[in-house]
Amino acid sequence: AMSVAACGSDDSGSDSPSADGSSGSTAAAAGKIGVILPDTKSSVRWESADRPALEAAFKAAGVDYDIQNAEGDAQKMTTIADQMISGGVTVLAIVNLDSDSGAAIEQKAEEQGVKTIDYDRLTLGGSAGYYVSFDNNKVGALQGQGLADCLGDKDANLIYLNGSPTDNNATLFSQGAHSVLDKISTYKNVAEQAVPDWDPDQAVTIFEQLYTKVGGKVDGVYAANDGLAGAAISILEKNGVNGKVPVTGQDATVEGLQRILSGDQCMTIYKSAKAEAGALAEVAIALVNGEEPQTNGTTNDSTGNRDVPSILLDPVSITKDNVKDVIDDGGQSAADVCAGE
Ligand code: BGC
Repeated sequence: AMSVAACGSDDSGSDSPSADGSSGSTAAAAGKIGVILPDTKSSVRWESADRPALEAAFKAAGVDYDIQNAEGDAQKMTTIADQMISGGVTVLAIVNLDSDSGAAIEQKAEEQGVKTIDYDRLTLGGSAGYYVSFDNNKVGALQGQGLADCLGDKDANLIYLNGSPTDNNATLFSQGAHSVLDKISTYKNVAEQAVPDWDPDQAVTIFEQLYTKVGGKVDGVYAANDGLAGAAISILEKNGVNGKVPVTGQDATVEGLQRILSGDQCMTIYKSAKAEAGALAEVAIALVNGEEPQTNGTTNDSTGNRDVPSILLDPVSITKDNVKDVIDDGGQSAADVCAGE
């Protein structure tokens, strides 16, 4: 049996927070909010965490909304955006699949008087009026620090498995990780590759190639999210070294947290969907009501040469010691995380 607090007998926090705000008494706004999520493959978060959190936030505010998923297809996202706009959406939030298609969607929306928001991923060269996300450079720095904590300052060969090259966040995550790990003189970067579309299936193939290329001489793996971590760990397992080679992650998924508890994964990053969806809902609802949304900073879009008013939230590093914090915050249920023990 697992002697970790997260899966102990104390079941406080195992109840999911009420997601039903449908009886909300707030006066309904006149407009409608559209949200387009990117896919179902790059991370389970979009459908399992973001969608329910967004629904709860919009319901609680009594605002009309439409949430759809582009299923990894930028053309499909464009079509959904067109349909949402002709269907009366007055505020549109997207998680872009790449900056070019995202910028085109935003420009078209704007031409029709629809206000746009970048959700989670900044659209480089886009025109969104607002950006709601986490401090993504800090996400990467926490991942780098987590890997360093698992490794200690011994000699170590590192492999980097980065996120999609079309996702500005993936760039920031990798930069953040490098900013910490490159300073540790006993570490050596032996291989680094980006995974198209954050696709965990491609990541298995890519990681196996990198592992073979370095002759299995790897001591630590920077994997940009839990999906990529799972891919790397499957190859480490095939070679009998899972649990001996620390691997980072992100999203605090059920599988990621289970691998942390079993010792196969070093850490993950918890980014509260409730907080991020709540921040998006506040910005969107203000815009629907013709009010100016509150922000806590700006984010520079170097491609578009502009600063985008932003709400940036604080990510949390999760290791074996604080898996319970994710459960206590309602980020996952104890039943799910502790299932199968
Ligand atoms: C998000 C991550 C997610 C990844 C793949 C990134 O933009 O910030 O949370 O794991 O996309 O969907």
